[in-house]
This record gives sequence, structure tokens and C-alpha cells, in this order.
Amino acid sequence: MKKIVVLGAGHGGVLAAIKLATNGYDVTILEKAERGQVSHNWEDDIRFDIFKFLEIDPPPEEVYSQKLKWRFVSPDEKSFLRVPQLPPLEEVSVSRRGLINYLISLAEKAGVNVKFKIKAVSLNFEDDMVVGVLTEDGQEFNCDLVIDASGLRSPFRGQLPDSFLVQKQPDEDDLMQACRAFYQPADGVAKPDPDNSLTILHLDYPGIAWCNHNHLGEVDVLIGRIGSLTEEEAKNAIENLRFSNPILSDIELKPPTFAEIGVRNPLPVPVADGYAAVGDSAFQAMPLMGSGIEASMKAGKYLSETIISAGESKLTASTLWPYQVRFMNDIGAAYMFIDVLKRWALSLPPKQINWLFASGAISDSDLAMISTEKDPEAKPGSTGIARKAMILLKNPRLIGLAAGCLIRASLAKSIASKIPEKYDIQKISKWKSKYDGCIDHKI
Ligand SMILES: Cc1cc2nc3c(=O)[nH]c(=O)nc-3n(C[C@H](O)[C@H](O)[C@H](O)COP(=O)(O)OP(=O)(O)OC[C@H]3O[C@@H](n4cnc5c(N)ncnc54)[C@H](O)[C@@H]3O)c2cc1C
Repeated sequence: MKKIVVLGAGHGGVLAAIKLATNGYDVTILEKAERGQVSHNWEDDIRFDIFKFLEIDPPPEEVYSQKLKWRFVSPDEKSFLRVPQLPPLEEVSVSRRGLINYLISLAEKAGVNVKFKIKAVSLNFEDDMVVGVLTEDGQEFNCDLVIDASGLRSPFRGQLPDSFLVQKQPDEDDLMQACRAFYQPADGVAKPDPDNSLTILHLDYPGIAWCNHNHLGEVDVLIGRIGSLTEEEAKNAIENLRFSNPILSDIELKPPTFAEIGVRNPLPVPVADGYAAVGDSAFQAMPLMGSGIEASMKAGKYLSETIISAGESKLTASTLWPYQVRFMNDIGAAYMFIDVLKRWALSLPPKQINWLFASGAISDSDLAMISTEKDPEAKPGSTGIARKAMILLKNPRLIGLAAGCLIRASLAKSIASKIPEKYDIQKISKWKSKYDGCIDHKI
């Protein structure tokens, strides 16, 4: 049976590992963190029906809870929009460590060899084909395929031969620099309603800030900026949040953690001979709207199905390409639309965003529409967000402002959907130039 090595216990990699081991593949995961310490020590939101789509049992109840109520706050903090609550448990806050530990336990039950505290450092090649991995402590793992699930800063993409056209490093505005910190609630201050407040263009920087009173009784703070965020800037921004969020005390429960969030369109080419990137290492998350956990796991399912369909054939860029075609058609093209829209929205002067909030041009019910995924036309596991954003932007008060961007976003989505069906590097190169050309990197 074919040997697969997964680099990093990223969600998509572990999901693919579960499916492949269940189908008799010999799978090893190399994870640099120790057992129990993989992923972040906090909670994030996912849709609960993802487990049905993935055809795995949901994690135990202690791992997730009802997602709390959110509101979006204008940059001047004078107006806000409530994000409507979905039916119970449609979206849940999930313990990051609880979820990944659960997925790892499923992988181990399926026969995957999960090795912790092993850092992979380089890919081994025979001609241009990846045939194995070298670890920091000098071990070599030979395999038929490396699945790169090592996250946004994957060092492995950069080692691939240029001929495969896999982008080596992210650009600065592909990433949001985030600082996440947890504080004790201030004494005598009533619990806010809604529990969570997210300020757009906080302090007029391209990015967000949130202050959430979570179900564990912690005040969860995030400062996120596209480009750069120094410790000093994060400290000042948190200080500033205290004016509008009296629940936020200065008693730290967990020290601030700095982390990066991918906020760009998916990589156009995530495969090479003997190599496939999945999850954040292929930028498979909806720009600026969370969802990376779900999208990674969906991509892991698509990848495992492509590998299984390849049967006895060698796992080359060509046999792995249907994985990317499926991802792009079902999810990636919609994310491309969102990326163009996001870059446009972040380039608007804060005054204009304040107007959108205050004038009623965007309403609570508009938010209800874009924050639900009940789209009868959607393919399984796809997102109707792009379609809904189009409907939202038919609002006459927005259309004047957004017309140019809408046209560019629709064109970008259409280019993304025209991904070549078959692996032909000349055609892929032409398509990639058009795809990359949709993004002007001007935030
Ligand atoms: C503050 C914050 C909030 C977020 N909120 C949400 C949210 O609400 N919803 C959502 O869906 N997503 C959210 N995300 C995004 C989400 O974290 C990612 O999109 C998601 O984790 C998918 O990434 P991944 O699993 O592919 O990779 P990662 O989670 O980055 O995992 C990569 C793994 O690889 C390991 N690794 C790296 N290098 C090596 C190496 N050389 N050798 C061995 N192991 C290695 C790492 O230790 C890690 O375990 C958030 C992210 C942040 C930072």
C-alpha cells in the first residue's frame, strides 16, 4: 500500500490521514508540538454540520458549546449591527485543542502513526519528485506522497522546483497579524448583550478588534491587522478597547499570543509531483471571515478522495490536480470573490464605513442573509456567501459605491472557476497569471 507522510497535524492533513488509513494506506503524521499541546489554547467558531459532510462522528460534547451572539461595530464605535443568532448549535464555539485532539484520536484509531515532537525540515527529491522527508533529528521518512499541513508559513512550498508554479512565500497583505489575549471580567460590570463585539477598521487600521465575554467567563480580546502589528501597537489597541468595553479589566488570565491568520484567496497551484498542500499551507480559508478550520477539513476530504481514485497510479501533480479543481469549483472561486470584496472594503475610508453603518444602508437582516448558508443551490460543502454578497450589493444605496468592485469580484470568481480541468502546465500557467492578476495587493 502507498506510504503517505503528513507534515504537521493541521486539520486538513489529519482529516486526509483518517480517510486514507481507513482505506488501507500507510500514513504517518509528523507534528512538532507535543501530544496535548497541538493548536491554540482557546476557542473558535465552526459550523456543526461540517462533521456530517466529512462523514465522521462529531466530537464529544465537552469540546464545543453554542456560539455566542455577535455585533459588528463601526470604526467610530458609534453604530453597530447585530449578527442574528442561528438556530441552536448550527454554529458552535469549539475548543481548538479539544477538536484537534479528537481528530488525532480518530486518526490513531484508523491506524495512523502520529509522531509528536518531530519537526520536519526538508523534502527529499528524486529528480523533481518528492520522495520523502528529513526531520530535525536526522530521521528520514520515505513515501509516495507528502501532504503539507504545516500551516501558513510552510517551509516546504519554497523547496519545490519552480516548474510546478507553487507560490513559495505569502505576500505581506496575505496575512493578518493577530494578538489574542484573555482577561478577567471587570468587577461589578454587567455581562454585555450581545456577548461579542467586533470593531471593523479599529483605530482606522486595516483589520479588526474584538472583545468577547465567553461562556468560560473570560474576556477574549483579539487585535488583528493586515500587514504588521507590533507588541506596543497591540497593547495600545487593547487599552483603547477598554473605553468601549467596560467588561474588559486589566487582569490577564493568559499572556497575549501572537499568531497569523490567512486572509487571501486560495493558492492557485497547491500540488507538485509527490506533494500536496492542504489547509492554511494552501491558503484555503475564506478571507477575513474565519472558516479556515472547516475549509481545511473539506479540502482534506477532497484530497483523500483524489488519492484513493488515483489507485495504483503515481501521485504526481497530474494525478493530484482533480483535488484542486474540485476545491476551486466548490469553495475556492467563492473565496476569490470575497477576497476582492474584502480588499475593496478595507481600502474604503473609515468615514464611508461609518456611513454604511449609521445610514441603514446595511441592515441587521442583510447580515442575517450573509451569515447563514441556507442556499438551496449550493453544492454540498460549498458556500453561498458570494451569491449572497451579490444580492446584498444590489441594495441601491450600496451599488453606487460598490459597482466597480462588484464587477471585479464577479470577474475574479469567473476566472477562478475556469481552472483547467486537466493538468497541463502551459494552460495552468496562463490561468494562474489571470488568477493572480485579479488581486492588486494595495491595502
Ligand atoms: C486568532 C485566530 C482566530 C481564528 N479564528 C478562526 C475561526 O473562528 N474559525 C476558523 O475556522 N478558523 C479560525 N482561524 C484560522 C484557523 O486557525 C486556520 O485556518 C486553521 O487552523 C487551518 O489551519 P491548518 O490546520 O491547515 O494549519 P495549522 O492550524 O497552522 O496547523 C499546522 C500544524 O503544523 C505543525 N507544524 C508546522 N511546521 C511543522 C514542521 N516543520 N514539522 C512538523 N509540524 C509542523 C504545527 O505545530 C501545527 O500543529 C483563526 C486563526 C487565528 C490565529
